[in-house]
Amino acid sequence: MKKISILIPAYNEEAVLDTLYTRLGTLANELKKYDFEFLFVNDGSRDKTLKIIREFADIDTRVSYVNLSRNFGKEIAMIAGLDHVTGDATVIIDADLQDPPELIPEMIKHWEDGYDDVFARRNSREGETWFKKWSSKTFYQILEKVSHVPIQKDTGDFRLLDRRAVDALRQMRESQRYTKGMFSWVGFHKKEVTYDRDARAAGETKWNYPRLINFAIDGITSFTTAPLRLSTYVGFVVSVIAFIYLLVIIFQTILFGNDIAGYPSTLAVILFLGGVQLLSLGIIGEYIGRIFNETKQRPLYFIEEYHYGAHKKTRRKD
Ligand code: UDP
Ligand code: MG
Repeated sequence: MKKISILIPAYNEEAVLDTLYTRLGTLANELKKYDFEFLFVNDGSRDKTLKIIREFADIDTRVSYVNLSRNFGKEIAMIAGLDHVTGDATVIIDADLQDPPELIPEMIKHWEDGYDDVFARRNSREGETWFKKWSSKTFYQILEKVSHVPIQKDTGDFRLLDRRAVDALRQMRESQRYTKGMFSWVGFHKKEVTYDRDARAAGETKWNYPRLINFAIDGITSFTTAPLRLSTYVGFVVSVIAFIYLLVIIFQTILFGNDIAGYPSTLAVILFLGGVQLLSLGIIGEYIGRIFNETKQRPLYFIEEYHYGAHKKTRRKD
């Protein structure tokens, strides 16, 4: 029997886990042709998330879990999960039920037809502000233009991956991960399914604007060096303008003399160039920072406990 792993990153999700588990259970019972594994990755939750997952694992051998040593963020939680899934295919799904598990049978059908990456595209986004929708749309447009990796629009991490796509992703060990871009980057046969995205079933979103902006900068700097090119262009254009202005000043002085004017224009030029230089330094700094972080070659995460349900084997240290 083929085995489907459901990978659920969870950070402070005590409010939704019961509903999620029930819905996944119902689904798994309907799909009798497959074995299921529910792999929870507890990403350093400070609430009862881990306790609830352990309770599931006590009564259900399909439930496995990885307990990370602290909160590492969803991107790292996902790779930690991918490192531990045992299925022939893996479905990544959010714990908050914004991704309907009921879509999974359709995904499996496409997988059986030979697709390696069946991703869910949302038609609507309930429960999100227009500003969040607008900013994420604009961001993806820009990212697609500057990087040469096609990014699937209105698509999150909710998708089914064949074993070989999972293996490909597992080989990518960069620490500042932008998984959404990696899904495209690894290639393989992709198939789109659409759904209506619900509002969160319960609990609160962990995203906020500083976090989203950091995520956007990570996305751009991990997939393209275009900003470096941009600062080269800006530097070039500014230099040309500065040179023309220099000629103008020289001829002006020769032809009409100099009456020590020009304090405001000098200041304007200095400030403008200062700004451009700082911006370029900032851009270079972003990339150097990435190089710095990657050269450390640290492990991506640490595991406090891994429980593999099917064997009832536990490495628990308490
Ligand atoms: N998540 C995680 N670690 C974090 C933040 C979030 O594992 O540091 C999980 C979270 O439990 C959920 C998924 O990532 O299953 C998506 O998070 P959330 O719903 O807060 O994001 P949104 O849907 O608002 O983009
Ligand atoms: Mg959510």
